[in-house]
Amino acid sequence: MKKVRTPIIGGNWKMHRGTPEKAREMLENLIPLVKDIESVDIVIAPPFTALGVASILKVTNIKLGAQNMYYEDEGAFTGEISPTFLNALEIDYIILGHSERRNIFNESSELVNKKLKKALSVGLNPIVCIGEHLKEREAGKTKEVIKKQFENTFAGLSKEDMDKTVIAYEPIWAIGTGKTATPEQADEVHQYIREILIDSYDKKTAENVRIQYGGSVKPHNAKELFEKKNIDGGLVGGASLEAKSFAQIIKEAEKTI
Ligand code: PEP
Repeated sequence: MKKVRTPIIGGNWKMHRGTPEKAREMLENLIPLVKDIESVDIVIAPPFTALGVASILKVTNIKLGAQNMYYEDEGAFTGEISPTFLNALEIDYIILGHSERRNIFNESSELVNKKLKKALSVGLNPIVCIGEHLKEREAGKTKEVIKKQFENTFAGLSKEDMDKTVIAYEPIWAIGTGKTATPEQADEVHQYIREILIDSYDKKTAENVRIQYGGSVKPHNAKELFEKKNIDGGLVGGASLEAKSFAQIIKEAEKTI
C-alpha cells in the first residue's frame, strides 16, 4: 500500500530514562537498528534532563523532541521550560497537550493553544495530542469531544502553521493500558479529523497534515494500524523505551511506504 504522507514515529519516554547514561545506552542500541531507514521520520522525546543526547543524534536519522514547554521566552515561571532554551539545544519537535499533561496537570486546550502558537513561532515542530476518555467513547461522544478539542486546541492557526503540525490521536483509554484501539476505530477518528481539517481549512491541508495514532502501539499491532489509509505512524510510549521494540515499530511503518 502506498502512503501519501511520510509516516512519523515518535517515542515518548515520559518520565523514564532521564539520566544521560540511561538515555545514551538506549540510543546506542537504537541507532544501528534504524540507521538505514530513510522513508520514516523518527523522533525521540526524552525527559528534559536527558536532552544532552542531542550531540549523539546529530549525525543520525533520529530527531530529538521535548515533552512539554511554556509559552513565554523567559520570566518568573518556576519549573517551566522556555522554547528558546529548547531551540538552543537544537530540539526539532515538541509534544504538546499529551493527555497526561491535560489530566494530571490540568492543562486546558486553551493553554495548549498558546504553547502551540509559540512553538510554531520559534520554529519547533509540534506534535499535538487529542483524544477522548473511555466514558466519552462509551457514551458515543467521541466525535463531539474530538471536534471541541480540535477547535479549542488549534484555534487561530493559519493554514501554513497547520501544515507544519502533527496531530496525535490518542484515545486516553488506550494509553499505557495495553488496550489498543482497533485499526478500524482509530482510522475512523483519523478520517473524522481530516473532515474537520477540510471544514476548517481545505482539502489540501487535510491531505497534508500527518495524524499519528497513539495508545499501546506495540511491535505486534503496529502493522495493521499503520496500514490504514489515514494513519501516518504512531506516538509510542512504553514500547519506545526498548531499542528492539521501538525499531520494530519503525520498520513496520517503513513497510507501509
Ligand atoms: C503515549 O505516551 O503517548 C502513549 C501512547 O503511551 P503507550 O504507548 O505506552 O500507550
